[in-house]
Amino acid sequence: MGRPDKIKSARVSVLGAARSGIAVARLLKSKGASVFVSDKKPIEEAAHQIEALESIGVEYEFGAHSDRLFNADFIVMSPGVPSNLNLVQHAAKVGLNIYSEVEVASWFCRAPIVAITGSNGKTTTTTLIGKIFEKSGRKTVVAGNIGLPISDYVADLEEDAVAVLEVSSFQLDHIDTFKPRAAVLLNITPDHLDRYESYQAYMNAKFKIFMNQTADDFSVYSHDDSAVVAHGDALKTIRRPFTVKDKLDRGGYVEDGRVFLVEDNEPVHLIDWEEIRIRGVHNLYNSLASALAARALGVPLDVIADTLREFAGVEHRLEPVRSLGGVRYVNDSKATNVDAVWYALGSFEEPIVLIAGGKDKGNDYSPLFEPVKRKVRAMILIGTAAPKMQKEFQDKTKCVMASSMEDAVAKARREAKRGDVVLLSPACASFDMFQDYEHRGREFKRLVMEL
Ligand code: ADP
Repeated sequence: MGRPDKIKSARVSVLGAARSGIAVARLLKSKGASVFVSDKKPIEEAAHQIEALESIGVEYEFGAHSDRLFNADFIVMSPGVPSNLNLVQHAAKVGLNIYSEVEVASWFCRAPIVAITGSNGKTTTTTLIGKIFEKSGRKTVVAGNIGLPISDYVADLEEDAVAVLEVSSFQLDHIDTFKPRAAVLLNITPDHLDRYESYQAYMNAKFKIFMNQTADDFSVYSHDDSAVVAHGDALKTIRRPFTVKDKLDRGGYVEDGRVFLVEDNEPVHLIDWEEIRIRGVHNLYNSLASALAARALGVPLDVIADTLREFAGVEHRLEPVRSLGGVRYVNDSKATNVDAVWYALGSFEEPIVLIAGGKDKGNDYSPLFEPVKRKVRAMILIGTAAPKMQKEFQDKTKCVMASSMEDAVAKARREAKRGDVVLLSPACASFDMFQDYEHRGREFKRLVMEL
């Protein structure tokens, strides 16, 4: 545990009154701190938040951040607030520590933490690890970036429970003593380059998940990602790499479709790939990582294997929607970057009509050129990224512009032939046309069901 001894007399400013900001304010207040919450959202739109803050009994401001924010012993920052904000830089300059919500919650968490990060696969892997622990009969809380703030749950978690946390690089940016018993780093591919100074800075944030681990903690990391393995192999922890390409003398690997974990230097057969319900190579990685993390905390092999046979995946991640006229419709709205689309294209044998586009994040689409040329019958392009994508893909496949999701679904139906897959896998953020990727995915599903 990090700083609770000082909490009772501490003055804390919480930056951002979203769900996790309110949860951490409540937690700190319950520990005796005096808490001030600041959010620049206009006060007229904050009725909900104000009600919650009043019920906790903390002070707050809306509409703008005043200097009062700096009148504190430390600041807690919501993951939605960019680190490069002037105000954050000012706080750092005047020597104020800035912590993320997971950092603060971890000070009060008696249960071991299993933390998951990576550019892609976090939610799937976090959910799967949660299911494995639940099946094993252990009290389990699944929280973090996935939706529920862990601050709301730490008070109820005893040593024999487990906290499974999805952590983003933005949360890792502001940790100090956060120390997972098992930490998982799935992969690192270019994403969020709009919020980081450089790719290296983004990678460094991800590596922080291992920063406070010691010799008896478990580090689970991809052996097939060159940047990740270089970092992971140098750790002084219990190392658990995973691969689908090699045979390893530690961690987990796949040989002739059989999945092995290495235990006491001996490979132990866990399951066959074909028995794992979530499909695609990316999900084989997620399954290996989940198995190693669960094993680190002593979950029996048969519980892990049974969960892998049952777990059907998470909404908006290669989610089957319906079949119509011999065409399968699949919702992969969560594919907000190029790498996720690359894996999505690799998950189908059938020809694909791909609906893509949205808000471009400075994407390099070149990894998709070859699979698009080989597998994609037509691309239906939406959003502000559409013209750039058309320019880059028009010599790889047929490109069709669409003005809305409705238009895109109608055009995709027209292009698809019996036996094809219509796949929404946008490679872009959704914010130009939708509230978020879930809104985009739901719209797609609604329109497909209406066909
Ligand atoms: P995250 O929480 O990191 O965004 P998700 O589990 O929500 O990850 O999946 C996001 C997207 O990435 C989906 O389109 C999914 O199909 C794809 N994906 C899932 N796991 C992986 C992986 N290990 N590598 C690459 N892509 C993945």
